[in-house]
Amino acid sequence: MSIYLLGMNPRISCAVCGETLRKPFITHVFGQSYCATHLDTLPQCYSCQRPICRPLTNGGVQYDDGRWMCQHCRAQAIDNETQARALLQVVRLGLAKIGLDIHHPEIQPKLSTRQHLAQLAAQYNMQQYGAGHLVFDGLTQSVTHPDGRRGVGYIYVLNGLHREHTAMLMAHEIGHAWLFLHHFPALPLQVEEGICELWAAQWLQQQNTPLAKLRLGQLAHNPHPIYGEGYRQALRHLRGRTLPGFLEVVRRRGGFERVK
Ligand SMILES: [Zn+2]
Ligand SMILES: [Zn+2]
Ligand SMILES: [Zn+2]
Repeated sequence: MSIYLLGMNPRISCAVCGETLRKPFITHVFGQSYCATHLDTLPQCYSCQRPICRPLTNGGVQYDDGRWMCQHCRAQAIDNETQARALLQVVRLGLAKIGLDIHHPEIQPKLSTRQHLAQLAAQYNMQQYGAGHLVFDGLTQSVTHPDGRRGVGYIYVLNGLHREHTAMLMAHEIGHAWLFLHHFPALPLQVEEGICELWAAQWLQQQNTPLAKLRLGQLAHNPHPIYGEGYRQALRHLRGRTLPGFLEVVRRRGGFERVK
């Protein structure tokens, strides 16, 4: 038996405006649905991507660099080096579970502003990653020792993000550090970034939370030719191997193997 009158649809109300949901609408991984048009007028949370407003996110704050954070993500934000170091330890343990040894004490995090990341990117000639704008929120400083070996400096990650967002960026950057510390040959940019997105994805898969699900979807659908395409290629080449097994193949070939 239906509780609705004949000919009437159940009315689902928008979690932002409270009116009947208008199409197109978005159902967020956290379960709330809202009219897509609200994203045109409301600022979007940098970590969970929801439109910031009182009913949906209990409001939010804007950082000096322009980014918005909703209050829910703010409550879980990583703001200082002590928190960042503790979180890096958690990520290390998670990656160790999938057989990746990352007990290299030289891998240390530093939280950065957007401006500082942009300055570092310019310094390292990383404009090739995006057409004049920053498309990444983390950066691993590589150092070359006098004997030619590559080592790592700091892992820089954007400050003030939700801890799961920060952790995912750390997993990606630890991937770069790991490649340096294991003396991998220089890899094509798309291969290296694709592999590091795989590190991030494997860490997210262990979390099994709505935010991790959201981030996994974004990795899979990222239109970026280096990050998105690199990740999809890495996934295709993984073909049931463990990540450590796959990395060994990449090291031997200096890239992805050719698919017949
Ligand atoms: Zn609405
Ligand atoms: Zn948020
Ligand atoms: Zn990267």
